[in-house]
Amino acid sequence: MTTEKGSISIHTENIFPIIKKFLYSDNEIFLRELVSNAVDAVQKIKRLAALGQYNGELGEPLVAVSLDAPAKTITISDNGLGMTAEEIKKYINQVAFSGASEFVEKFKDAKDANEIIGKFGLGFYSAFMVADLVEIQTLSYQEGAEAAKWTCDGSTSFEISAGDRTTRGTSIILHINAESEEFLSEHKLQEILDKYAKFLPVPIQFGTKTTEEEDGVDEEGKTKYKSVTAPNIINTTHPIWAKAPADLSDQDYLDFYKQLYPFAEDPLFWIHLNVDYPFNLTGVLYFPKVKDDFDMQRNKIKLFSRQVFITDEVKDIVPEFLMLLHGVIDSPDIPLNVSRSFLQADSNVKKINSYITKKVADKLGELYQKDRKSYEEKWSNIGLFVKYGMISEEKFYDKAKDFALLTNTKGEHFTFEEYKEKVKDSQTDKNGNIVYLYTTDPDKQDGFIQSAEKKGYDVLIMNTPIDGHFVGSLEHKLEKTQLKRVDASVTNQLIEKDEVLESVLSEEQSATVKSIFEKAIVKPNFSVEVVGLSPDDAPVTVTMDEFMRRMKDMAKMGGGMS
Ligand code: ADP
Ligand code: MG
Repeated sequence: MTTEKGSISIHTENIFPIIKKFLYSDNEIFLRELVSNAVDAVQKIKRLAALGQYNGELGEPLVAVSLDAPAKTITISDNGLGMTAEEIKKYINQVAFSGASEFVEKFKDAKDANEIIGKFGLGFYSAFMVADLVEIQTLSYQEGAEAAKWTCDGSTSFEISAGDRTTRGTSIILHINAESEEFLSEHKLQEILDKYAKFLPVPIQFGTKTTEEEDGVDEEGKTKYKSVTAPNIINTTHPIWAKAPADLSDQDYLDFYKQLYPFAEDPLFWIHLNVDYPFNLTGVLYFPKVKDDFDMQRNKIKLFSRQVFITDEVKDIVPEFLMLLHGVIDSPDIPLNVSRSFLQADSNVKKINSYITKKVADKLGELYQKDRKSYEEKWSNIGLFVKYGMISEEKFYDKAKDFALLTNTKGEHFTFEEYKEKVKDSQTDKNGNIVYLYTTDPDKQDGFIQSAEKKGYDVLIMNTPIDGHFVGSLEHKLEKTQLKRVDASVTNQLIEKDEVLESVLSEEQSATVKSIFEKAIVKPNFSVEVVGLSPDDAPVTVTMDEFMRRMKDMAKMGGGMS
């Protein structure tokens, strides 16, 4: 092979500075891109063999990442299909040209064409974010192919000459630049591989590991040990989300959860997602035990594309009310390198979002149907999601209204339907509305609860951070139903004028009320009201107007959940 020098044809004048600038903050993704390419190459040769287009030895599929810190190089090598010099020119030199998309086009009818990681990112060229010289050593699977070498120093000129490889596949050698020496650390590379490559479908080797293994017994009967050095494989090639639910046990799901979140408590339950039309999506979503520190628990869902980790920013893809869920989503149909606003408008993303909402609703409905008792036990945890979902998504409300639970002060749970039945005859106001009483603080409002219960009324507990909003939205949605905090006025009449006072209260009571007014205990947002449904025996109490109080509660929450 004669040495050939040339100039890379690119559409943008000088793409490298742009790549560097654009992706600077995320420069570690060079490893994701190069390892993904290597995985692609291995998948491709397997596919060619399966199609009968390659009859040579396949060997054990392997991608190896190695570090030579003194030489300041990182090498990513694979035993994939390799490239001829012509292919290098075509696939590597023509930046805008994606070899993967051509391959998929060619084999799109093949069953597993999907396994080839699609085009995303800046792919191969992201190498120049961290290297000032990139070398490719490659030998194609094709009969009579010659090993080829390509080098490029990050300018638009390259050099192709005869290469050194004697076995099929490709090695990418990165000569790490001065600003990127942080990557010349085993620890750092291990960390990046753990992040992006942990579930890739081809074994990824990073160095070797030595373990002590039992090696029989010595003369005194003591166990002998020997050191065994083996390739250090950093990934699981068949993560559970890529398997069929029928092949998995509960323990498999729990183990995987532990693998993802080593310090978390076991989840409550999970949902295995699996759809291939009209978009492709797999994944497992877990319902965690909810802690008070919401913010710590948010953004724990990992997004993958064909087993390559992409991000844990799944906003828009996962409905807002499910952002506290944990787990993974894998979809080749989510555009990965486009702006946020585009993502919001993307039709696949919208479909995926509503699919997830539907699956979660179905799962909850199923749990409720199957085992109401265990569902009730989990309610204190699930309730948060369900209520939040009901407030924020009409479609979810429509499904959840059949399995959402209301809990009363006696700890009994009711569906909406059941609760309505329970109180519809005994708790009505003069306009024929059903009145639901609730407490936001059973301890503080105990006196009011007792007096309501003495009258035969039922009191619901609404004491979680989401409940303030939930109460408001229920009143909106439930027909002819009013929700009143147990210490709020039931008549909801502002009593400011003497006539009103006198018409409702006895002389003695009205005198008390007036004196309270005069003593200015009553602040602007408070009203003096009659508590209890029948004025005759009602104690006179200073309460806050229901509306004003809700406003205050919401202000206190300060948009904590929105
Ligand atoms: P993409 O992966 O999206 O196609 P890249 O820029 O990452 O884009 O890679 C461009 C092309 O270079 C690939 O499609 C493939 O044809 C070729 N290529 C890159 N790395 C390898 C490799 N390790 N083995 C074989 N071909 C490769
Ligand atoms: Mg690529």
